[in-house]
Amino acid sequence: MRRRKKTADIVIIGGGIMGTSAAYYLAKRGASDVVLVEKDLLVQATTGLSVGGIRQQFSHPANIRLSQHSLRVFKSFKAEFGVDIYFRAAGYLFLAQKETTWNDFLSSVDTQRQMNVPVEVLSPEEIKHRWPYLRVDDLKGGTFGPEDGYADPYLVAMGFADQARRLGVRVEEKTEVTGIRVKNGRVEGVETSGGSISTPVVVDVAGPWGGEAARMAGINLPVKPFRRQVFATSPFDAIPKPVPMVIDQDVTFYFRGEEPNILMGMSDPDEPSSFHTHVDRDFMERVTEAAVYRAPILEKAEIIRGWGGLYTITPDDNPVIGAIPAVEGFICAIGFSGHGFQHGPAVGLILSELILDGHTEFDLKPFAYDRFGDIKKEGEKKVV
Ligand SMILES: Cc1cc2nc3c(=O)[nH]c(=O)nc-3n(C[C@H](O)[C@H](O)[C@H](O)COP(=O)(O)OP(=O)(O)OC[C@H]3O[C@@H](n4cnc5c(N)ncnc54)[C@H](O)[C@@H]3O)c2cc1C
Repeated sequence: MRRRKKTADIVIIGGGIMGTSAAYYLAKRGASDVVLVEKDLLVQATTGLSVGGIRQQFSHPANIRLSQHSLRVFKSFKAEFGVDIYFRAAGYLFLAQKETTWNDFLSSVDTQRQMNVPVEVLSPEEIKHRWPYLRVDDLKGGTFGPEDGYADPYLVAMGFADQARRLGVRVEEKTEVTGIRVKNGRVEGVETSGGSISTPVVVDVAGPWGGEAARMAGINLPVKPFRRQVFATSPFDAIPKPVPMVIDQDVTFYFRGEEPNILMGMSDPDEPSSFHTHVDRDFMERVTEAAVYRAPILEKAEIIRGWGGLYTITPDDNPVIGAIPAVEGFICAIGFSGHGFQHGPAVGLILSELILDGHTEFDLKPFAYDRFGDIKKEGEKKVV
C-alpha cells in the first residue's frame, strides 16, 4: 500500500474542473510537490453534472477574457492532451423578450465587439428564418455567437487530471479535508480523513463546498449553493442539427443538442439556497412548458432522465478568484454560477501564476474578495 506523504508545497482542495486545471498548470509550470485532495472521486460533483456550454457572450470584459483564453484551450485540447472532448461550435443564441434585456444585450455586444468577439445581432424575423422551430413573436431580438458551443466537461477535467498526475501531482481521492491549520495569519497545513498534511499553500476550489472550506481557515466567503436541474429527451430528430445553445434569457430557460438527444434546463428564482440535488417532477413540468412555449416542436419530445447539480453563487454573480489577504497562503476560485466549466482552463492557469509568480496578466479586480463592499455595480449580467 502506498504511504501518504505528510507534507506538500501546495494542497488543492477539490477535484472538479478548477482543481484539475490548477493542478495541471502548477505542475506544467514547475511546481513539484502538489497534492490534490478530493473527498469523492474526481469530477463527480458540479463539473460532471454541467451542461458543458462554452460562450464568449458575457457582459463583463473580465469574463470575456477568461472565455477567450479558455476557448483557445478547448480548441487545441486534443493536440495538447490527446483527448477528444467533443467540442462542437454549434453557437449560442441568446433571446430577449423584454426591452431592458434587449438593451443589456446590445450594450454587451458593444463590449464583446470591442474585444473582437464575433457576435451577430438578429431581428425576430432573422431568427425565424435561421431556426424556424423557434417562436419569435414575443421577442425584441437575439444575439448569436457562432464560435460558441459545448464540450464534454468530464473529459476535459479528466484530461487535466491525467496530465497533472503524469507531471507528478499526487491525487488523493476519497479523502476529505476536515480542517485547515492557520497560525499567526498563515496557513500551516490541512487535516484530512487520511491524516494531516503540512503545507504553506492551500487552494480552495471546493465548488459549492468552497464556503465551508474557507470557514475552516476562519474566512467568510459570501457564496451559496443553489440547485439547478437538467432534463434530457429521448433521441429527437425533428430539429435540424446542429442545435445551438438557445437561451431564453428572461425566463432563464435553455436547450441545446446533445446528439441524438436534447438537453434542457431552467433556474427557479424562488428556490432557496440548499445542497439538495434531487429531481423535482413538478419543476420538470415547468421546464417542459417553457420548452414548448419557445420551440413548440418540442411537444413531441419525451423526457427520459433528469439530474440536479449545484450552482455556487456570489452576490454579484462573479466568482472570487485570488488570495485572501487576511490569511497568507490561502487562495481560492469559488462562485462561478453556471459558467465555471468553461472558465476552468483560464482559472487554473491564473491560480498557477498567482502561486508561482505572485501575479497574472488577467484582470482580477472584478473577482477580488474585497469587492463586496461595492457589490451590484459591475457584476455579470449574462447568467442563466
Ligand atoms: C446543472 C448545471 C449546469 C451547468 N452548466 C454549465 C455550462 O453549460 N457551462 C459552464 O461553463 N458551467 C456550467 N455549470 C457550472 C459549472 O459546472 C461549475 O461552475 C464548475 O463545474 C465548478 O467547478 P469546480 O471545480 O469549482 O467545482 P466542482 O466540480 O463541484 O468540484 C469541487 C470538488 O471539491 C470537492 N470537495 C468539496 N469539499 C471538499 C473537502 N472538504 N475535501 C475534499 N474535497 C472536497 C467536491 O467533492 C468536488 O468534487 C453548470 C452547473 C450545473 C449545476
